[in-house]
Amino acid sequence: MSSSILIKNPLLCCRMNSDIQFGDVLNAFSGGHIYIEDSKIVSAGPEEFSGTADQIIDASRILVLPGFVNTHHHFYQTLTRNIFATQKSELFDWLVTNYEIWRGISGEAIYISAKLAIAELLKSGCTTTSDHLYLFPNKSEPTLIDREIEAAREIGIRFQPTRGSMSRGKSDGGLPPDDVIQTEAQINEDIYRLIKTYHNDSFGAMTRISLAPCSPFSVTPELMKETARIARENKLQIHTHLAETAAEVNFCLEKFKMRPFEFMKSLDWIGSNAWFAHSIYLNDAEIRQAGDAQIGISHCPSSNMRLGSGIARIKEMLEVGVKVSLAVDGSASNDSSNMLMEMRNALLLSRLREPEYWLNTEEVLWMATVGGAKALGRDDIGQIAPGKCADLTLISMDKLEYSGAQHDPAAAILFCVAMSPVDWVIVNGKIIVEEGRIKCHNAKHLDQKKYLDEKALIARHQKLSDDLIAEAESKTGKKLTR
Ligand SMILES: [Zn+2]
Repeated sequence: MSSSILIKNPLLCCRMNSDIQFGDVLNAFSGGHIYIEDSKIVSAGPEEFSGTADQIIDASRILVLPGFVNTHHHFYQTLTRNIFATQKSELFDWLVTNYEIWRGISGEAIYISAKLAIAELLKSGCTTTSDHLYLFPNKSEPTLIDREIEAAREIGIRFQPTRGSMSRGKSDGGLPPDDVIQTEAQINEDIYRLIKTYHNDSFGAMTRISLAPCSPFSVTPELMKETARIARENKLQIHTHLAETAAEVNFCLEKFKMRPFEFMKSLDWIGSNAWFAHSIYLNDAEIRQAGDAQIGISHCPSSNMRLGSGIARIKEMLEVGVKVSLAVDGSASNDSSNMLMEMRNALLLSRLREPEYWLNTEEVLWMATVGGAKALGRDDIGQIAPGKCADLTLISMDKLEYSGAQHDPAAAILFCVAMSPVDWVIVNGKIIVEEGRIKCHNAKHLDQKKYLDEKALIARHQKLSDDLIAEAESKTGKKLTR
């Protein structure tokens, strides 16, 4: 049975369907309509729509945008937010402390934390997310990615999970404890299993697999190369952390006699199917090469500020055609999974540089939508245009925080902080957020009105978090919380 949604008379609709290099990025209109049939946008424009639909949303006070795309996350880290022992740590110390907690993670913890992170993302307007899961504790079930996919399918977000990996533990000179790493044979076998079971490369895919070794500190160069080869063979995107800190640059120079970007080049990783998280420490030549190679970047301003990592050179990357996207990063280095907050932080963090490098509203909205789609290797999302997937975010301007800013609704959502969730989120033609509440079609944890029972989810999530931290404290004999 087909279904249709008519979004009528929007206050402003930003189509985002022209390229960032060509001027009018927003390509916005007021009044008119957006008409959705099943999973696709059929028409969108300032002209009136003469027909009707199964559901009509009056958007006369609403800003309509393509759904936001989050290109880098670690869902499980929602269980270890705000840990006192890491509140003042830089990346390496932060990782070493957190691994003591993360090594105890279970399949249920992965499932519940994914669900919680996805709920947060949706309520901040995100319709497609990636997740980078590289932690496979020996004592838990080996099919943890499956639990994330289960959570994403239940709630209904578009999901591009990345099969992460770590093969070099502490005893081998790596950072992670030995009991959270896997052998390269185990990793490759699971990659092929996931591709076979879940990977969908067709237009509008709701689940698509990408591959993502954790970082040069935690896998061997051979595994990096083999991952890139498997990705080419199966036409997959590849992803990893790159040039996040100055310490990483020093590590690579010492160990490989190359800067991180050069090292990735030597492993066949610099190509248009790759996207990298952070990439703060790229020099001029590397940024030029990144543009020439058409790689993607996940800019994670909150995490970069929280860990004191540095300021990525986003303006320069946009100028040379790098596919820059936005990402919240894991919730132990952001403590939030809020895309709107990330967009605002991208805008503000750029203002700590010289004015010529400041980002504006158009650039930030582009990165959160079109840039995200491009980084994930997709052309079916990120824009409001006939034929594209019906993934949309609707934000009402009737909020205290936007009052006085409504002469420019698109900028209001970045410059002003709204404390309440976005109002409507449509994913693949289905309403998933309805007047600020998550409406599940087939999920567990539902309340009587078929909305996600957030209280029940939070109670289970918090218990799993308390138990994980208590276990780590008793094993290490160290106090991790205040
Ligand atoms: Zn990360």
